[in-house]
Amino acid sequence: MAAIQLEQIVKNYGSFQAVKGIDLEVRDGEFVAFVGPSGCGKSTLLRMIAGLEEITGGKLQIDGTVVNDLEPKDRDIAMVFQDYALYPHMSVADNIGFGLRMRGMSAQERRRQVEEAADILQITALLDRKPGQLSGGQRQRVAMGRAIVRRPKVFLFDEPLSNLDAKLRVDMRTQIKRLHSLLKTTMVYVTHDQVEAMTLADRVVILKDGEVVQQGAPVDVYTLPETRFVGEFIGSPKMNILEAKSAAQGGESAALIGEMRIPLGQRQLAADRDILFGVRPEHLIRCATDEAMFHTTVDVLEPLGSDTMAICMLDNQEITARLAPDPSLRPGTRLDLKVKPEDIHLFDAATGIRI
Ligand code: ATP
Repeated sequence: MAAIQLEQIVKNYGSFQAVKGIDLEVRDGEFVAFVGPSGCGKSTLLRMIAGLEEITGGKLQIDGTVVNDLEPKDRDIAMVFQDYALYPHMSVADNIGFGLRMRGMSAQERRRQVEEAADILQITALLDRKPGQLSGGQRQRVAMGRAIVRRPKVFLFDEPLSNLDAKLRVDMRTQIKRLHSLLKTTMVYVTHDQVEAMTLADRVVILKDGEVVQQGAPVDVYTLPETRFVGEFIGSPKMNILEAKSAAQGGESAALIGEMRIPLGQRQLAADRDILFGVRPEHLIRCATDEAMFHTTVDVLEPLGSDTMAICMLDNQEITARLAPDPSLRPGTRLDLKVKPEDIHLFDAATGIRI
């Protein structure tokens, strides 16, 4: 069992508290992503698990053992960084097998393990090259190969793809996911990129200001964000948030946005409350004027080929809709939109908490 347990983990830098008492369990074999904006404490948390950062308070267990005071090398973990730190004068094979050689493994067994890792990562043809003769993505795979051969209990990744260009990042993402389903080792992955977190992880842990604000399966945090912050952070392009007031009439609640009155289905709200009305761009549907909830005017169009982002004006608020491509759409076009009641997210205007 290589579960990781964090109990009330705290990190102080002088008087600044970067991690504020986090409780979390990563199950054996699980892939968990820590995600959040810059400075939220995700790297610090990962580095404490790795043993690269001293833990100020709380208890950290790996595989049932308290490891707070264990050296990184004694924790049986492997860490992959964005900076691959390969030895430039050594071949790929020697780079991957370096740790094994240090452990005194025979050349033959080393060769076998290096070849196995290279096979998993599809870099067999590159084993005799030097790092300088590799692309960024290939170098990142070598760095992962070095981690794989150690057969650690846990893999930790700290933004491993952020130095790569967009296409390579997507390719490497697939590689890492494949690696996890093959090795079934516990993995913790830090990223500021919510798409990376959502696509890779079994569970995403969203951090803000040193605290966990929500965690769950990617689809669950997307469907039911508990706060405005999570609603806007998860999903791309981000959720539209419109200032609104609640209204109630004849037992039915509605949201008032400017002149528009949007029925809220089953939801009951007290009248005249300041609320935030959240709707994802992909949940806005073009419709006939008489069934529209939003009468908007297209301001900017961003065609992506497969679909088009229409950034529209609604009174003085902006609203983005993800639409099927339509060559007749132009800036200035009137656009009528609606949303299904179940795709509406409501948050309290003052606290940002889901209603
Ligand atoms: P990023 O995505 O920018 O790397 P992060 O979420 O990984 O951000 P951390 O690197 O964990 O954030 O930093 C958390 C907070 O702790 C930040 O406010 C940072 O400025 C602060 N911090 C990190 N390292 C130190 C340090 N050695 N001394 C003082 N403050 C630090």
